[in-house]
Amino acid sequence: MHATFPLLQATQFPAIRRRHLEILQVNLGYKCNQSCVHCHVNAGPTRTEMMSRETINEVVAYITAAGIGTLDITGGAPELNEHFRMLVTTARDLGVQVMDRCNLTVMEQPGQENLAQFLSDQEVEVVASLPCYLEDNVDRQRGKGVFQASIRCLKTLNRFGYGQAGSGLTLNLVYNPQGTALPPSQMQLETDYRRHLGEQFGITFNHLHVLTNMPIQRFGSMLISKGQFEHYMDVLKNAYQPQNLESVMCRNLLSVDWRGYVYDCDFNQMLDLPLSWKGRPRTHLRDLIGTDVTHNPILVKDHCYGCTAGQGSSCGGALS
Ligand code: SF4
Ligand code: SF4
Repeated sequence: MHATFPLLQATQFPAIRRRHLEILQVNLGYKCNQSCVHCHVNAGPTRTEMMSRETINEVVAYITAAGIGTLDITGGAPELNEHFRMLVTTARDLGVQVMDRCNLTVMEQPGQENLAQFLSDQEVEVVASLPCYLEDNVDRQRGKGVFQASIRCLKTLNRFGYGQAGSGLTLNLVYNPQGTALPPSQMQLETDYRRHLGEQFGITFNHLHVLTNMPIQRFGSMLISKGQFEHYMDVLKNAYQPQNLESVMCRNLLSVDWRGYVYDCDFNQMLDLPLSWKGRPRTHLRDLIGTDVTHNPILVKDHCYGCTAGQGSSCGGALS
């Protein structure tokens, strides 16, 4: 895979600082049952990195000490970590809102048959990837058969009440473009998804999050292979919207890797750009207990233009 960091290092992206921390985004490991071409994690079935029980205990200790309101669990496929359910139930017992970034098809993996039941019992918000409502596009990006499997799993979640009015069980979908274009209007695309998935499959959901592809890891490497990296950076920079700086996700989110080290966001984690903290080369979550990261400078590089282009992009979708 081509390295993207040397192409992103020199930057004129504006300096920004953290605000009050609200969301802890924890990556439970890079193992995934899929190997999508746009994956910014480079996750896949052969990855072995997994957060240990000891590190998960440290995550819980930090959540408690820092009064974190939202735990955003990601991977890989985070459900494949054997401690996933323990982390979810512990956080829910602490009154923390929990989000599971679910690739849907993991629900059909061995041992995951009752995943929908577990998630609904714990009232976990499900954030599910579905990069298109058309089968060909999804299978090209995520693998043959992924679309049909995703539809089956969405129907299962609907049966458990997810995405149904009045259930209190939130099901949000995630879209990202196929190539070097910026995503279309989130509002318009949500309407299209709702109509298509409703009419074709009887599927309902709460909201669609529209994400811009990041020029890093597998997607960035693909751009380099095709000679499109510079073009894509031009697309992102030409669409720069300064008002998006106010709400980029690194302002109120801290990202934790499978070993417990911290980063300003998931993308910085994938570029191995650790949180800048007291001159240390790398900081562990346990070392932040009892400290306050508010006003800490955020480590920005050229990939940050992926968050500020057009309607903006964050783990919660468009910004503006
Ligand atoms: S994009 Fe998501 S589902 Fe696809 S390989 Fe990466 S982590 Fe797995
Ligand atoms: S890539 Fe990360 S650090 Fe850069 S603006 Fe986006 S969220 Fe912030």
